[in-house]
Amino acid sequence: MKYLDEYRDGELTRGLIKEIAETTTKDWVIMEICGGQTHSILRSGLDQLLPTKINLVHGPGCPVCVTPLELIDKAITLAAKPEVIFTSYGDMLRVPGSQKDLFSVRAAGGDVRVVYSPLDVLKIAKENPDKEVLFFGIGFETTAPANAMAVVQARTQGLENFSMLVAHVTVPPAIVALMESPDVQVNGFLAAGHVCTVMGYWEYEPLAEKYQIPIVVTGFEPVDLARGILLCVQQLEKGQRKVDNAYTRSVKREGNRPAQEIIRQVFEHCDRPWRGIGVIPMSGYRLKDEFAKFDSEKRFPQITEITTQESEICISGLVLQGLKKPNECPAFGKECTPQTPLGATMVSNEGACAAYFQYRKRTG
Ligand code: SF4
Repeated sequence: MKYLDEYRDGELTRGLIKEIAETTTKDWVIMEICGGQTHSILRSGLDQLLPTKINLVHGPGCPVCVTPLELIDKAITLAAKPEVIFTSYGDMLRVPGSQKDLFSVRAAGGDVRVVYSPLDVLKIAKENPDKEVLFFGIGFETTAPANAMAVVQARTQGLENFSMLVAHVTVPPAIVALMESPDVQVNGFLAAGHVCTVMGYWEYEPLAEKYQIPIVVTGFEPVDLARGILLCVQQLEKGQRKVDNAYTRSVKREGNRPAQEIIRQVFEHCDRPWRGIGVIPMSGYRLKDEFAKFDSEKRFPQITEITTQESEICISGLVLQGLKKPNECPAFGKECTPQTPLGATMVSNEGACAAYFQYRKRTG
């Protein structure tokens, strides 16, 4: 196989689904960790084609969804400052804070700009030496190397007006938190192929061993996903509990070493709150002390006191832990739609609630 279309091939996907059906004898709950995978599953209808004994639940791997409300409110407060140019990937602009979102800050005259790379932000900083130029550095391990590179470049270029509001999270501690939860219902994980392209999958091996759970590195197209599910079911049925790689065209066990090295150079692990879930120990990245001058929270220490109020009816925390499906939320498709989102899982392009709304509407 050489081309993307081949990974969307209906006949191949149906063949894999048939194999899954022939292999499955018991009820299994399998969680895809990444929101991109959730959307692909819903878009292709893969979940509805699987045997009813396979229950796919959707994990916390949408970085926009798990960025804490407190940090969104900090971003909004900073973006409204007249001396600030606030830059971000586009999907953060519509995420509701306690009172408003970044779009409304821009509508009110704030200088909020969408960028496609953190390196673009350095150019903006260079062109606007009289402004503080901030970048909302969110994401899993996938975006961390580029963000780390931007910080290194800012130091090399002697930029004094660039900083990053860091909201990075990492996958392995989230798996630990899910498996340590008394409510855990997951029998197997599909690990996110793009994260593993950067980090490899050696980090998952002790987790599969400790929690006796299969973890299958999986891609994003229907053939990739069906193959990942098949490998996971085969392990479960045979009583095996290990890491498999169903995304060999992109992922090696050791990952991308130079990318990991630049992450290690710039970031260190820290406890991080996940929206809807709570604090997960050592699940985040923060800038090392030697890069503290590029940390927006240190440059603007007055923003550390913000307190927030979540929607009382939103159950996105349960959705992100695979304990509920979006269409089990009483607000789904009623008070909460992509136009009137109550939680980040309805806003983000990778959010599970948005995927259900887009592909399943209100029928479930
Ligand atoms: S449908 Fe809306 S209110 Fe319900 S869990 Fe999803 S984001 Fe929250």
